[in-house]
Amino acid sequence: MNVLSIQATLSEQVIAAIRTVIGSDQAVLHQPSFNGNEWHYLKECLDSTFVSSVGKFVDRFETDLATFTGAKYTVAVVNGTSALHIALKLAGVQAGDEVLIPALTFVATANAVTYCGATPHFVDSEERTLGVDPIKLRDYLKNHTEQRGGQCVNRETGRIIRAIVPMHTFGHPADLDGIMVVAHDFNLALVEDAAESLGSCYHGQHTGTFGLMGTLSFNGNKTITTGGGGAILTNDSELARHAKHLTTTAKLPHAWEYRHNEIGYNYRMPNINAALGCAQLERLPAMLAAKRELFQRYRASFNDVEGVQLMVEPAKCQSNYWLQTLILDPEQADNRDNLLKATNYAGIMTRPAWVLMHELTQFSDCPRMDLSTAHSLVQRLINIPSSSSLVTRAS
Ligand SMILES: *Cc1c(COP(=O)(O)O)cnc(C)c1O
Repeated sequence: MNVLSIQATLSEQVIAAIRTVIGSDQAVLHQPSFNGNEWHYLKECLDSTFVSSVGKFVDRFETDLATFTGAKYTVAVVNGTSALHIALKLAGVQAGDEVLIPALTFVATANAVTYCGATPHFVDSEERTLGVDPIKLRDYLKNHTEQRGGQCVNRETGRIIRAIVPMHTFGHPADLDGIMVVAHDFNLALVEDAAESLGSCYHGQHTGTFGLMGTLSFNGNKTITTGGGGAILTNDSELARHAKHLTTTAKLPHAWEYRHNEIGYNYRMPNINAALGCAQLERLPAMLAAKRELFQRYRASFNDVEGVQLMVEPAKCQSNYWLQTLILDPEQADNRDNLLKATNYAGIMTRPAWVLMHELTQFSDCPRMDLSTAHSLVQRLINIPSSSSLVTRAS
């Protein structure tokens, strides 16, 4: 008798391990939960009639966010993409520049670069963090760029590489120490895409507060949501002032006059979204604890499943575990699609990582380094149900 026939397939083992943790219900990937003051603050906001660009919830949300992250200043905006757009603009990214971003990211990172008229330049990730690999990047920059008048110039294209945007994948902090040294040595502005990492710390400091600026997202699928929303974090008062100005149509303060002194954007977060955000932020510590508990339950459950690893926070980091992540062993890479099919058919929502940016038609001509680790990771990453409510419901 064939030994294999009496063993459960990898898909069966993975489904069983997930079911052990989440029970027999259908499960989505990530669901928001509103069991704090959400209704209360929304009603208060509606009753005040200040639902739009003025109101006390925006100010409070920005203050609460600064307190939570430790950033000196925060500017709340309509979404994470607009936060990135403004942060890149204020980092000096201009038309004709290049900006280093991971190939393994959500499309918003690349889109924001193009909104500045600049070109994304794709860099590889490392398996340990799922983020930018600073050692490989340093080597690449040494061989492909030169310093001209304090600027990093791409020798092949002749364009200035103005900035680098590491992204903290699924809430796991990238190697910020390594990336900061590369940014410093090659004269690159550092802007962190912390859209996925609210609540994640690197060496005890909140992600998004290491660079010149960092950006957050409060989209419906993120750790907390304002419906749609984002924020810029910075410790620089002048950058914060300018970010606020640009995102509020660059209007000069005046009792009645409409005067705008540069091309601005209508990117300010509406008060009604901030009302939701204030309530969500109050519950963030509890949600983070629940997501960590969910990780621990999955870890116990997947302990005996051979061929897959559950992604663990990098050393000296505290991840928010926004999306729990399975990494298939290289020999199991061919099994990814079977696993996705089997789990989704079983009512367990799972998703692969994004298609790598340079494989999208609109970015296929952009410069890039060797992306072998990103390629390998994409073939092996699977996100599994991650809502904090999976823990609170079960306990
Ligand atoms: C969610 C996300 C953003 C921003 O998304 P919005 O939907 O515009 O809020 C940016 N970068 C990454 C990596 C994201 O996951």
